[in-house]
Amino acid sequence: MDVVVGGGVVGLSIAWRLARAGRPVTVVDPAPASGASHAAAGMLAPVSEVTYTEEPLLRLGVASLRRWPAFAADLTADAGLTPAAGPAAGPAAGPAGVSAAVRDGLDLRAQGTLDVAFGADDLAALGELAAFMEKLGLPVERLTGRECRRLEPMLAPSVRGGLLAPGDAWVDPRRVTAALLAALERRAVPLVRAGVSELLRDGGRVTGVRLAPPPEDHPAAPEGSEQGDEIRAERVILAAGAWSAGLADVPVRPVKGQIMRLRSPVPLLSRCVRGMVHGAPVYLVPRGDGELVVGATQEELGFDTRVTAGGLYELLRDARELVPGVTELEVAEVVAGLRPGTPDNLPIIGPGAAPGLVLATGHYRGGVLMAPLTAAILQGEEGDLASLCSPARFRDIS
Ligand SMILES: Cc1cc2nc3c(=O)[nH]c(=O)nc-3n(C[C@H](O)[C@H](O)[C@H](O)COP(=O)(O)OP(=O)(O)OC[C@H]3O[C@@H](n4cnc5c(N)ncnc54)[C@H](O)[C@@H]3O)c2cc1C
Repeated sequence: MDVVVGGGVVGLSIAWRLARAGRPVTVVDPAPASGASHAAAGMLAPVSEVTYTEEPLLRLGVASLRRWPAFAADLTADAGLTPAAGPAAGPAAGPAGVSAAVRDGLDLRAQGTLDVAFGADDLAALGELAAFMEKLGLPVERLTGRECRRLEPMLAPSVRGGLLAPGDAWVDPRRVTAALLAALERRAVPLVRAGVSELLRDGGRVTGVRLAPPPEDHPAAPEGSEQGDEIRAERVILAAGAWSAGLADVPVRPVKGQIMRLRSPVPLLSRCVRGMVHGAPVYLVPRGDGELVVGATQEELGFDTRVTAGGLYELLRDARELVPGVTELEVAEVVAGLRPGTPDNLPIIGPGAAPGLVLATGHYRGGVLMAPLTAAILQGEEGDLASLCSPARFRDIS
């Protein structure tokens, strides 16, 4: 049996794919779907996220984006959901619950990302980026300011030009994790609502996990547990996101992101819009139910998840430069999440140095995008790409 430690989008996707393949698997998480996956905007945007130094990341992202439509179709069917037929209704699902909203599908949309520029410098930078993308054979269209506003009439008049990455997509991550939980439940995969305090080792081998005792005010002992405070497993798959380094020697650190959800009676945008404002990137992601997600800060502050006045001020100030109408919208939610960062910004996927330990962590800014690829790599697919994420590139991982 496999034990997956961590029930974010990565761990749940892996568990679901293993269960579909007929492998016995248990998921352990004190609060499934409450981590970075709860905060994420859900952009599936490898092309518009590309930078000159990150070609390997781009290859991984493009490969995972290609897998998303089939992943979403299988998940929708497996979770017993109705595929979305037009804009989804209702509020987003809560972290662990399967709400009515999920039944409307995953809100997977593929109208592309529009990257816009204001000043001459930004425009020149976008031009260079376009040339780089074209060299890589990636689909991209250069647009004038007027063409940008024709696509997105709510854009600021000061937008001078842009780049459209027509293949980029996005999804509602909360719907995805809720659907994964539903699919796992339908396949009778045990979900143990407890924290793992340590990995069990026998000699050099990882043989299972020890569960942390529930806090005194916890209403019940973990359900579905294999009795007692240990679960033995052939493989332990560590997918605990930003918390992974607490359980194994992996170079993963938390990178805080504050993000805001606004509610609009009529959709302001029809595709993802992003741009550089005051030297910082900002993006706006429209959901099918009229919600507009504005993200995100990037802060190296350890495990701090406070939402700050300064963070929100910067998000709103920058978003208003792109789309002035955002200030009219109702604030639905503000939240901070912890991205699992790695030294080279690439995820860490594959066998750890200790037999019995498998790593699936460090997805940084792209865990939602990369979930289908990660699950595929752990099933032995995508050999070439798997080598890019191999834990072996770091010494001392155990
Ligand atoms: C503001 C923001 C915006 C983002 N936008 C995007 C985006 O647009 N597109 C994209 O692809 N990515 C985005 N990301 C990144 C994405 O959210 C992450 O890469 C992804 O969610 C990582 O998934 P995960 O399952 O590894 O981690 P998480 O979702 O953090 O899940 C980890 C899980 O591990 C559990 N856990 C922790 N410790 C233990 C333990 N000891 N025992 C058991 N369980 C434990 C936690 O409870 C949690 O449920 C964004 C992130 C943030 C913060």
